[in-house]
Amino acid sequence: MDIITILKKLANIFMSREKEEVEEETESNILEIKDIMDKMPTHSTKEYPERDLKEITHIDIHHSASLTVSYSGIETIKSFANHHINTHNWAGIGYHYIVTPDLEVYKTGFDSQSRWSVGNHNGYTISTLIVGSFDKEEISEDQYDLALQLVRHKMRSYSVPKENVKGHNEYAGHSSNACPGINMEKFRGDL
Ligand SMILES: [Zn+2]
Repeated sequence: MDIITILKKLANIFMSREKEEVEEETESNILEIKDIMDKMPTHSTKEYPERDLKEITHIDIHHSASLTVSYSGIETIKSFANHHINTHNWAGIGYHYIVTPDLEVYKTGFDSQSRWSVGNHNGYTISTLIVGSFDKEEISEDQYDLALQLVRHKMRSYSVPKENVKGHNEYAGHSSNACPGINMEKFRGDL
């Protein structure tokens, strides 16, 4: 890569980040997405890779596989981050957004960085976690609606079609996974 290409790439990343920040300000009026990135533990040396926002074409949906009764706020989310860092050796928590049982929507990663929750697909997805274990319990109507709102918002931001909103186990190579435990056909139908 020559110096001009590198500079262009850097400028692109910078502009993506700026655009994202402006957009977050507007979206917080509608949906109230709380940025908790500065509260999240991160890997001591690794960083999630930068990407151009134009690369985003999909949204992936996960559950935490932990029961909603065991959720105790941001501490629980920090424990997910620590698990990803210490067990998987990831750069930080593997999700961009988190929808909690007490009806908060948290932002835990820049859209302009990929996260590592769906191996081989991460470069083009926005990674969304719904806290709960939906193979064992029903999601509440309110938490479900909030997840729909968040996903609709991100679909608009990046022109993601409904069919590209997929559960973790709908991505090629991940079909043996129980995640996200919710009926994705219905979810897409409700978008
Ligand atoms: Zn998953």
